[in-house]
Amino acid sequence: MMSNFKFKKKYGQNFLKNPDVIIRMLKLVDLTKDDLVIEIGPGSGALTTKLLEKTRVIAYEIDMELKETLEAIKSNDLTIIYDDFLKRNVKRDIGQISYRNLYLISNIPYYITTPIILKVIDEELDVKKIVLMVQKELGERFAAPVGKNASSITVLLNYYFDLKKEFLVGKNNFYPQPKVDSVIISLSKKSHLEILYDKDLFFNLIRDAFQFKRKTIKNNLKKYDLEKIEKVLKKYNYDLTVRSENLDYKIFVEIANSLSSE
Ligand code: SAH
Repeated sequence: MMSNFKFKKKYGQNFLKNPDVIIRMLKLVDLTKDDLVIEIGPGSGALTTKLLEKTRVIAYEIDMELKETLEAIKSNDLTIIYDDFLKRNVKRDIGQISYRNLYLISNIPYYITTPIILKVIDEELDVKKIVLMVQKELGERFAAPVGKNASSITVLLNYYFDLKKEFLVGKNNFYPQPKVDSVIISLSKKSHLEILYDKDLFFNLIRDAFQFKRKTIKNNLKKYDLEKIEKVLKKYNYDLTVRSENLDYKIFVEIANSLSSE
């Protein structure tokens, strides 16, 4: 069936053809039989079959044309939902399944990388570790250290996870071959989160703080109480002329908390 399959750009279809990459991905997680892995975009099931050797999987595939291929790997340990992952109520989907630890491991469609991660955070899915194949540039931005290429999502991710750039995967490992190289990143849930009084305020604050990259905090955060912000910055030897990319996520947490207290 796969022989006459027409790959669809609009679904970000670049299938992994090198099994070694999958083996290396699986080494990053200590899976057992009673865990559950969410997989987004199983494609023809290259990663799915390897996951099933170790644990249970719930996979989301948007392309109905892959159904016949995927039905061939049917197993009691596998649930496949043929739908757009972004439209699903994932908590409800996995509600029937009891598991020890939840993971998200995928070679995802790149056009929805950020929405996927935001959905996991937004819906408070209790994933222990996320292992994702992403575009190299994006992966490097996510895992950027303070002062280097950081964005609002870097700050958000650092609040929830320990981020790590694991290894590079060249574009020649895929069929059809994409234009850019990829990287495997891992996001491990932090065992301890800093207290946030108002999550929405924090989300809005960091979005605004990075709105114009070249601008200072003072310019990006005009509509906030700059006196309170300056007070926090001073504690760390910064002033309002600092740029957001130079600030550790913890400083943003503290600013958000100072703005939400009366
Ligand atoms: N994981 C496979 C395929 C990666 S290509 C492999 O490693 O070989 C990306 C896959 O995601 C494709 O199968 C594509 O059809 C699927 N996909 C694209 N958008 C999706 C969405 N919104 N929800 C679920 N699956 C999606």
